[in-house]
Amino acid sequence: MRFSVLRWSLPLLLNVLFAPILTAQTIRLHVDLTDAPRNIYHAHMQIPVQAGEMSLVFPKWIPGNHRPSGPIGALTGIRMEAAGHPLAWQRDAVEMYEFHVNVPAGIDTLEVSLDAITSLDSAGASGPAASSNILDLNWNAVVLYPKGARSDDVSFVPSVTLPAGWKVGTALPVARSAGDNVEFAPVALTTLVDSPLIAGAHYRQIELTKSGETPTHVMDLVAEAEPDLAMTSQDVAAYQKLVAETGALFGARHYRQYHFLLTLSDQVGGHGLEHHESNDSVEGERALLDADLHMLSADLVPHEFTHSWNGKYRRPEGLATPNYQEPMIADLLWVYEGLTQYLGTVLAARSGLWTDEQYREALAGTAAALDHRTGRTWRSLEDTARSVQTLRMMGSQWQSWRRSLDYYPEGELIWLEVDSIIRQQTHGQRSINDFCRRFHGGESGAPKVVSYTFDDVVRTLNEVTPYDWAGLLRERVGATSKHAPLGGIERGGWKLVYNDTPNLFTHAEEKLAKFADFSYSLGFVVGADGKVGDVIVGSPAYQSGLGPGMKLVAVNGRKWSPPVLRAALKSAQGSDQPIELLVENAQFFKTYSVPYHDGERNPHLERVAHQPDILGDILKPLTH
Ligand SMILES: [Zn+2]
Repeated sequence: MRFSVLRWSLPLLLNVLFAPILTAQTIRLHVDLTDAPRNIYHAHMQIPVQAGEMSLVFPKWIPGNHRPSGPIGALTGIRMEAAGHPLAWQRDAVEMYEFHVNVPAGIDTLEVSLDAITSLDSAGASGPAASSNILDLNWNAVVLYPKGARSDDVSFVPSVTLPAGWKVGTALPVARSAGDNVEFAPVALTTLVDSPLIAGAHYRQIELTKSGETPTHVMDLVAEAEPDLAMTSQDVAAYQKLVAETGALFGARHYRQYHFLLTLSDQVGGHGLEHHESNDSVEGERALLDADLHMLSADLVPHEFTHSWNGKYRRPEGLATPNYQEPMIADLLWVYEGLTQYLGTVLAARSGLWTDEQYREALAGTAAALDHRTGRTWRSLEDTARSVQTLRMMGSQWQSWRRSLDYYPEGELIWLEVDSIIRQQTHGQRSINDFCRRFHGGESGAPKVVSYTFDDVVRTLNEVTPYDWAGLLRERVGATSKHAPLGGIERGGWKLVYNDTPNLFTHAEEKLAKFADFSYSLGFVVGADGKVGDVIVGSPAYQSGLGPGMKLVAVNGRKWSPPVLRAALKSAQGSDQPIELLVENAQFFKTYSVPYHDGERNPHLERVAHQPDILGDILKPLTH
């Protein structure tokens, strides 16, 4: 196993710092990852115990998922033993994440073996955690801990055995390694669950800190094939710039070292999961090589990195729980995720991962989608946050009417509005950057959590510049409305317009995912197979009776294809005839007449003359 000088020296140093944690109460955990290619991990724990009844729990509420997503259904092969004898255990009849066992007299160590099936879940995503060439280990999937304990108070000595020759990336401090075995320094359960590990047959590590600077930042990449790892020198420079820009934005760093864990694969579940000292992100296998995929993925890493400050260090009170069994309250996700979405996209532009034009095209797509979310007339944004438990895994059907995880993109619009108001109120002297320094800055050092409430957010905004922030935010978050909050775009000197020029992002997505988007004209998206995705309530297609799940067969009597439908839209512009859509619905065929004559409508931002370009100012880098 290859470790750079840095990866050796730093862990040894930390090992000294961590040594006092190793006590009689430390749980030894070994995870055999050699079966990763067939998506099963084998774990073995030695848990210090006392004789008598005890309960062990499996992490249920997973940080970053904000919901009870601990993969309990995938937990299998559970065996408990003491002094070489099997012990009977019982699952709690009500709480599926809890196991009861009676420890015999004279026993001080419980041996627990369990397997985690990883074919269905990886960091809360839908998709396997491992493939033939790579794996992602989220430790919450392979641990039990004593019921009632705070995760800060339970200490673990973790170790793994990797598939032969695979190399590993993680923020966990390495104590020692030999061959394919790696042992880590003792850590609290909080740190363990917060420090996933990726490994792969194809691995590369890229240094992102200028030499001599601390803390250090590295990117650990694993991929399905060696050529996937060929990051361009422009990208390396952009990620180095991203590190510098966050330093300038927040003014402090709340980690001892930072690892960008980046998996490049189409075979494992796509996700990005934030941690204090790392982020665990998956992009498509060709994300470094394909220009479209690169553009579509470019804000993922800035988003997850931003979470180290906004989400991990500063955390809504309802999400700052003492362990993984305590329920989470997600009302403030429009700050946790919404502000992160705003800063992540802005940082993508400031660091050069996006051009300013790409940023504006992404923003136009976000604004248009939210302005057509008819569900906003019955459901507040806060209700989408509170409902993360039920909304996250719902499909795309009736999404505009149901709403989705709108606290991400609508939070972005709200924080853009906040930023442009601060800039207008202070004549460009202050901005959201000043809020971030106050709210997320403070003293640099090891990870810690400082929780906050709605009032703390409002108070800090008022310190930056006095305004009716409470009134504005309560209105934006708590009220229903007909239209999306586009005030940030308008104050920024731009406006949302629609025309027949393709939106850069939609166009790239259409090519990659093989669908055609007519959301803002007819009111639906349609797959290459003709299957209708969401139909926007109130749109021309909705008014004429179309619904999601139906299958488009023909347009004006001709076999359907995206070009045929686009041509029909164009010819309908100069005609009073409706567009005739022949549709198959559960084995029956019907023609729907859609009276639509406005042609294609793709979202873009257009400059408003004689207004200052505040949006342009927002995208300017803070470092040179
Ligand atoms: Zn996020």
